[in-house]
Amino acid sequence: MNKTPEAGPCVALVGAGPGDPELLTVKALRLIQQADVVVYDRLVSDEILALIPSGATRIFAGKAARHHHMKQGDINDTLVNLARTSRRVVRLKGGDPFIFGRGSEEALHLAEHGICFEIVPGITASAGCTAYAGIPLTHRGLATGARIITGHLREAGDLDLDWAGLADPQTTLVVYMGLTNAATISAQLIAHGLAADTPAAAVQSGTTPRQRAAATTLADLPAMLERENFQAPAVLVIGPVVALAETLAWKAPSARCDIEAHG
Ligand code: SAH
Repeated sequence: MNKTPEAGPCVALVGAGPGDPELLTVKALRLIQQADVVVYDRLVSDEILALIPSGATRIFAGKAARHHHMKQGDINDTLVNLARTSRRVVRLKGGDPFIFGRGSEEALHLAEHGICFEIVPGITASAGCTAYAGIPLTHRGLATGARIITGHLREAGDLDLDWAGLADPQTTLVVYMGLTNAATISAQLIAHGLAADTPAAAVQSGTTPRQRAAATTLADLPAMLERENFQAPAVLVIGPVVALAETLAWKAPSARCDIEAHG
């Protein structure tokens, strides 16, 4: 379909997974280790950044405290320019590059400028965080499917989602960037028929040593996020499968948090 990566200037759009460096694909690891330049996002963990060769140039494209993040247009242009001047350019993104990561916009921009590219999928947050929290996305008798959505608004206004379609007790719902609008999400799902006592969870910094997870009901979810002071990055998981974490939460995140909190 595309030009082969060896054909000339080329950018690898690489998914870094949700944080645990051992969740990198073999291909992602190889490309990182061979990179001349790595353009990375805020969500790429320090443990993964440590794998970048010391001789490679690192370019941070994410948000940093008191600094403006690079605008998407600038990132796109940077990638084109780097591809023309460097041999091995890696665009490293948290999770999977094609899931809420704007990787597809970057790939389109590269294509428009005749730059060859390859896409290396990564473990997306909804898969990694749920696995590490002991929540299966599907389970016979509990969930016949799963949906991932973003709770983030592009512009100010109402969160305009297909609530009736989303309020399906058979389908696990995973919300990325859902902390700010959790109250709306909870209220709308209940208003559209999802039971108020549907199990619901939040997983923060999933798969990293800082992972935290907590479960409650859909009705209590916004209050729980406040009580427990959940912060980004976090995913919300809503559906009967969340109850299985009582048995399947193998990573004991709360124990870890306690140890960290109490020194
Ligand atoms: N491309 C990424 C998603 C980028 S959008 C992917 O496939 O995972 C950023 C959002 O992803 C965060 O706000 C959060 O909702 C979610 N996210 C990414 N990494 C996460 C992690 N380690 N723990 C919890 N949520 C995470």
